[in-house]
Amino acid sequence: MAFLIPSHASRSGDDPIFALNGEARARARAGEPIINATVGALLEDDGKLAVLGTVAETLRAVPAEVSAAYAPIAGPDDFRRAVITDLLGDRPAAAHAVAIATPGGSGAIRLAFANFLEPGQAVLTTSFYWGPYQTLAEDAGRRLETFGMFDPRGRLDTPDFARHLRRQIDAQGRALVILNSPCHNPTGYSFDDDEWQAVVDVVSHESARGPITLVLDLAYSRYGATDLGSCLDRVLPLAGKALVLCTWSASKSFTEYGLRVGALVAVHPDAAERSRLLASLAYACRGTWSNCNAGGMAAITRVLTDPELRARVDRERGVLKALLDRRVERWNRLAGPAGLRYPRYDGGFFTTVFCADVPAAAARLKVEGVFVVPLPGALRVALCSVAERDVPRLVDALARATTATATG
Ligand code: PLP
Repeated sequence: MAFLIPSHASRSGDDPIFALNGEARARARAGEPIINATVGALLEDDGKLAVLGTVAETLRAVPAEVSAAYAPIAGPDDFRRAVITDLLGDRPAAAHAVAIATPGGSGAIRLAFANFLEPGQAVLTTSFYWGPYQTLAEDAGRRLETFGMFDPRGRLDTPDFARHLRRQIDAQGRALVILNSPCHNPTGYSFDDDEWQAVVDVVSHESARGPITLVLDLAYSRYGATDLGSCLDRVLPLAGKALVLCTWSASKSFTEYGLRVGALVAVHPDAAERSRLLASLAYACRGTWSNCNAGGMAAITRVLTDPELRARVDRERGVLKALLDRRVERWNRLAGPAGLRYPRYDGGFFTTVFCADVPAAAARLKVEGVFVVPLPGALRVALCSVAERDVPRLVDALARATTATATG
């Protein structure tokens, strides 16, 4: 007897990245010198999870009666205010923003997909994208469509973006675009000012045809080579013409992946529209996960608002960012001369190496004890989980695997 509804009956619960990670760890435990570049978390050079000590300490200090209680459905007011200030600082847009608590950035993305598109409509994103976008869209009864991410010069293909956006608005009467920059997962690409401006120009132009929601997925915003400010200063003036949404997450920024603390921030100049947004999003929270982690939000609020704790966390994060930046620098020094083809990469957890025969290259790498994540046309390399001393071996193995498979 079939209990699952037919459309859900053949869904796979396995995450291919977690499966690869498991295989790499098992071989490492058996004594092989494995390079495991699959993990999407920042690891110290000794392989341990990098943790911001002050955040962990603040979390332990949350009173039991706070963490055991239900949090308000939309999240505590002080948490929501702290997130807006953290994201927007003293920009005028901060007065035009509402935030709602979500379980991590994933929850924020889920809320966006489910509330700004009708069932059956498609989200638009880049052709390389974080796999769970598709899961989040499909599980919410929406779909995912993509535009070509890179033009022949290796820059963001904004003409292709414009074409797809126009087609979608004409077909759907509305559109939702999600863009992940800085430090795009999986490519590592960060849009520069000209690319952001081109995105803004396209959205601004097409917004005359129908409502467009632009979601900035800022999961890796603290690890970019440049401050988020110049991106925000270009995008925020769109608010009102389009709906600007930002995802905010403590997962990478505060190395609290398991805490599931995040928020969706919506910017709109009209107060009545903001009230409607907040009410409708709170309703969706209640209908999806009810409310979020009370203790986690209390701790993150403290580290965002207590000047001394905040300064300590910023210093500790600076040390972790420097650790990652050293790996990125070493990679960039070696990978180009070794013949690897990869997008501009100036910071962040991942890069991708373009590759003609992905399954063959990934299989060859595995034989050598190097684990990366196969994608259509590329291999994702998580430098966040590779010790700096292993970068030369990683580049060398990738160069041999991708050239051997390119020439047959
Ligand atoms: N967006 C991107 C591109 C990610 O890579 C991730 C996590 O890996 C997320 C969003 C969401 O992470 P979380 O739900 O832990 O905040």
